[in-house]
Amino acid sequence: MEFFLPISYLNDFVFCPYSIYLHQVFDNSNEDVYSAKPQQRGKTAHDRVDHDKRKQSKKVIAAAYVVSQQLGIYGKIDQYFVEERKLVERKYSLSTIYRGYYYQIWAQYIALEEMGFEVDQLFFHSIRDNRRIEVDKPDTKAIRELKNHIRKIARFDFESEINVNPQKCSHCIYAALCDKTNQDHVYA
Ligand code: SF4
Repeated sequence: MEFFLPISYLNDFVFCPYSIYLHQVFDNSNEDVYSAKPQQRGKTAHDRVDHDKRKQSKKVIAAAYVVSQQLGIYGKIDQYFVEERKLVERKYSLSTIYRGYYYQIWAQYIALEEMGFEVDQLFFHSIRDNRRIEVDKPDTKAIRELKNHIRKIARFDFESEINVNPQKCSHCIYAALCDKTNQDHVYA
């Protein structure tokens, strides 16, 4: 049976593979139990896109599901500007564009094109300081890297040893629930 990975896993796995396992474990519980301020802010940013969806025009497609058969992924895009063929991924605050963020927007771009929507430009939008940053579309090398990353997630043994990075744990929403660390996150 074919299975598809959520696009959000592409960044979560870079941050810490074990966070995907914990996400699955706590998926059915109330998110307020574990979500911290940055995630709540991020969720608010995405909820705002969902809300705007109701008043979206033909010019903007917001909070829409996309899927790529080629990559085996699915997820939501934030905004696609139809006339300008621009894809925009919103983050609450963007001081660094992590590799996982690139994987997410590349996957969204490939899924959109596969679904028949041409994309000319990719942007991240930092909500806090209202900044928009253009990034390159993925070339052949980047697409190969993305596919390898997806393959690595799909084959990952979540029972294997993981490298615990205390710095990351201190910024992880699952820290209080994680059996790999005794520390809580800094947002508590
Ligand atoms: S608390 Fe640390 S080890 Fe546990 S999921 Fe988060 S980053 Fe990974």
